[in-house]
Amino acid sequence: MSPSDHAPLKFHWPDVPEPGEAVEIADGVLWMAMPLDSPLKWINVVALDDGDSWTLVDTGTHTKRSVGYWELNLSGPLKGKPVSRVISTHHHPDHVGMVGWFMQKHGAEHWASRTCYLLSRMLVLDVEDRPTEAAIRYWTRAGMPAERLAQRMQERPYNFSDVVHYIPTGHIRIQQGEIIRAGGRDWDIHMGNGHAAEHVTMWSRDDNLVIAGDQILPTISPNIGVQPAEPEADPLAEWLEACERLKPLAREDHVVIGGHKLPFTGLPRRMTDLIANHHTGLNRLMDHISEPKTAVQCFSPLFKREIVDSIYGLAMVEAYAHLQHLYKIGRASRTLNDDGAYLWQAI
Ligand SMILES: [Zn+2]
Ligand SMILES: [Zn+2]
Repeated sequence: MSPSDHAPLKFHWPDVPEPGEAVEIADGVLWMAMPLDSPLKWINVVALDDGDSWTLVDTGTHTKRSVGYWELNLSGPLKGKPVSRVISTHHHPDHVGMVGWFMQKHGAEHWASRTCYLLSRMLVLDVEDRPTEAAIRYWTRAGMPAERLAQRMQERPYNFSDVVHYIPTGHIRIQQGEIIRAGGRDWDIHMGNGHAAEHVTMWSRDDNLVIAGDQILPTISPNIGVQPAEPEADPLAEWLEACERLKPLAREDHVVIGGHKLPFTGLPRRMTDLIANHHTGLNRLMDHISEPKTAVQCFSPLFKREIVDSIYGLAMVEAYAHLQHLYKIGRASRTLNDDGAYLWQAI
């Protein structure tokens, strides 16, 4: 089948649930939304009915507002039953922010990939008052302008613990190929990668539901970025590998609940587009670096829109990831200029 034969994306539940409300996507499967102070606006969380208690998939950030929302959700759609298990799809703060809160308040177990557990626990304990040397070196190599760099060096950076509750020791490890029972269904576990390392996706064996976290989003491409903690990584290669591996699982009748935006059908089309978007972006980038460029000089071919301050960091790490991929597969060269920034050029 060619991509044009796939059904277009459809959004069957157009209204985002309000605080204290849930949408029943299927029997025993509730969709709720938690607020975010970011352009994404909200994160989707799923509650799976286990009879005496709930399994949550992802939690939102830990803020005063989130705690208030959760109290409304617990007494409202969750009917006062406790949360006995939280499954984290991946380690990002909008997903793991309230895990520790549920562990301490409800005695919930934390189910996660080993990478998610280790990274989230490490990051929540790692409080920084000023940017690390590794971060400054990475921003320099990305070509961040001197003025912006100097300003950032004086500022307290974004800290994971600002929006993530302390996460206690201990988790139940989730691995590729396992089957998890929750919400009256068996779920096949398939690990994503690239947006976040060892990212859990859940595929129901008993009906048509897929809980995809940020691995598969409708209408926006998940951020793929190189981070100071692993500056030589090639997350785009990992992303493309995961997409190619997950694509054959996709069915037209699948209802997908991603980490952001609305639940949708049209997964075969979406998988094809997610892969194609990056390949066309890489081709535009190849043209753009026929003359040497730094990463921050490569926003226009990738994003085709103005990059405002609030998304500058996301754009920078994504541009860097695309350039690094071209370098790692031998399609671009990389040399340091006098300012300590990498210049990337098509080969
Ligand atoms: Zn994420
Ligand atoms: Zn997210």
